[in-house]
Amino acid sequence: MWYKKLHWQIIIGLILGLIWGLVSSIAGFNNFTTDFIKPFGTIFITLLKLIAVPLVLASLVAGVTSLNDTTKLSRMGGKTVLIYLCTTIFAVTIGLVSVNLIKPGTALPEETKISLQETYSGSIEERSRSAEEVMNRGPLDFVVDIVPENFFAAASDNSLMLQVVFVAILLGIGIIQIGGEKGQFLITFFDSLNDVIIKIVDLIMKTAPYGVFALMASLIVDLAGDDLTKALELLGALGWYSITVLVALIIHVLLVYTSLFKIFSKEMKLSGFFKAIRPAMLLGFSTSSSSATLPVTMERVEKNLGVDEEVSSFVLPVGATINMDGTSLYQAVAAVFIAQALGMDLTIGQQLMIVLTATAASVGAAGVPGAGIVMLVVVLEAIQVPTAGIALILGVDRILDMCRTTVNITGDAAVALTVASTEGKLHEPVLED
Ligand code: ASP
Repeated sequence: MWYKKLHWQIIIGLILGLIWGLVSSIAGFNNFTTDFIKPFGTIFITLLKLIAVPLVLASLVAGVTSLNDTTKLSRMGGKTVLIYLCTTIFAVTIGLVSVNLIKPGTALPEETKISLQETYSGSIEERSRSAEEVMNRGPLDFVVDIVPENFFAAASDNSLMLQVVFVAILLGIGIIQIGGEKGQFLITFFDSLNDVIIKIVDLIMKTAPYGVFALMASLIVDLAGDDLTKALELLGALGWYSITVLVALIIHVLLVYTSLFKIFSKEMKLSGFFKAIRPAMLLGFSTSSSSATLPVTMERVEKNLGVDEEVSSFVLPVGATINMDGTSLYQAVAAVFIAQALGMDLTIGQQLMIVLTATAASVGAAGVPGAGIVMLVVVLEAIQVPTAGIALILGVDRILDMCRTTVNITGDAAVALTVASTEGKLHEPVLED
């Protein structure tokens, strides 16, 4: 039966959650939704986050220890970062071309601008402060940050995933080098731990339809509040802007990921790629967080795309932290939209500056909801567009965040497949759920 398939169940959960949220806003039982439904969504995301660090550690140690040649690691690392950078630059460029062609900012009526700025200007200060901290950092600070001084501190904060990756690689290399009985014992230990964690991910995913239902219901209640018409008006006013972001995201997926797929996956059909990672894409959409979705992305990419664990256990955690094509594309569209709405003409130099800063800003953005708009401050400052303009787009940010996160996750999976294919590490995938 079709409805027994996990992705259909998640889609049904998503639609029912949406309906529940709308009905609860119209009929006025928002408090019930917030008090008794929202917590289940929160628990679901927390469970996924809970499993992320142990999963990355165990699967990466298992991956590294199965390498017969550790020099492969640096080659794979260099290749991964390079492909990630290239896809991000493509994304920003597609965003820039779309926003310059569609020009959504020029269509924004004056009174809408004023009312948006009045409504949202209060919420900008905190975002500007967080972005300021990022801007005050030295150029190599991000490299320094990869090395933790305390493993347990790193493992206790999901935003420090690159530090966990670093420790796991060290640990793996150490285990290979001691070899012998002790080494074998540790290899078996991490392998078994990895299998246990994958089982737990499966268990958590069984609750995904309910979790997604709760997340969507509470999201609609948070967005619409008691005044659904106002929320819909806002969506309408920012319609062209939202359409530009969506069209550009779709073009990026169709152009860049499809090409990567066509070049590097010889056996599988394109529809097979999307089928394989569909549950991860749906989760990314409903959680707006690449980090929270990471365990599911890893599982699907390994099992259903056939990417060897050696590759996926490295490429995907790194991708969830630094590769955000959807985010960088959105930042380019948003920056130019704000400039257009404020009547500022951007020079070619400023647009090139957007390519640079949006790429860097998306690398620096964490894989959590709303991180992209915080880092947008960095882009706006670089091209001297007033950061107060963020007020214009805040109202629809959460919805666009869901879409760009889905693209971020798709990008990580496409690159994992590419790296695996060039390393000869692509196996026969499992085609069912
Ligand atoms: N929510 C996005 C992610 O987790 C980041 C962002 O664009 O806000 O990938």
